Amino acid sequence: MPNFKSKIREIPNWPHKGVNFKDITPLLQDKNLFSRMIDRLAQPYLKKKVDKIVGIDARGFLLASALAYKLKAGLAIVRKKGKLPAKTVSKEYSLEYASDVLEMHEDAILPGEKVVVIDDVLATGGTVKATIDLVKKLKGKIIGIEFLIELTYLKGRKALKGQKIISLLKYW
Ligand code: AMP
Repeated sequence: MPNFKSKIREIPNWPHKGVNFKDITPLLQDKNLFSRMIDRLAQPYLKKKVDKIVGIDARGFLLASALAYKLKAGLAIVRKKGKLPAKTVSKEYSLEYASDVLEMHEDAILPGEKVVVIDDVLATGGTVKATIDLVKKLKGKIIGIEFLIELTYLKGRKALKGQKIISLLKYW
């Protein structure tokens, strides 16, 4: 495995005290490692039929678009409330001290389409859980959920039991 972790910058206490933020921008900036990261993320699905990659607002988009290109799949996006112009389905989810709403266009996924969901970081799992609900509302079939980074100590994987989760880099 290439040393992807060497290009993940850790910012303590950002954006809030107690959060150790994983900044992926140095990895995105690396012309060698960026393409190798996308190749690794694509690897489990090279021999599978994938109709859509679902990318989560906002850093998830940076991975989802390249992954969709690599797998010759379509790209569907999950956005924070109020950003999508056409008819949407929505799902409220809890954050540390508040709640927020995620939305997808109601035609983003056709019934029965096989989708892979991707985001940069799995923390508590709340964001991806809401995304799973949106995909299910649109009757998509989730064949995989991927993250570049998993913060195992926040036990997001446990909150997503029953789902097939792949993460490239784990932090304990
Ligand atoms: P969660 O819903 O708790 O799993 O949080 C996941 C979402 O928050 C992802 O979209 C991440 O981009 C972001 N996130 C949460 N914790 C971190 C962290 N320590 N570093 C970078 N991004 C994070």
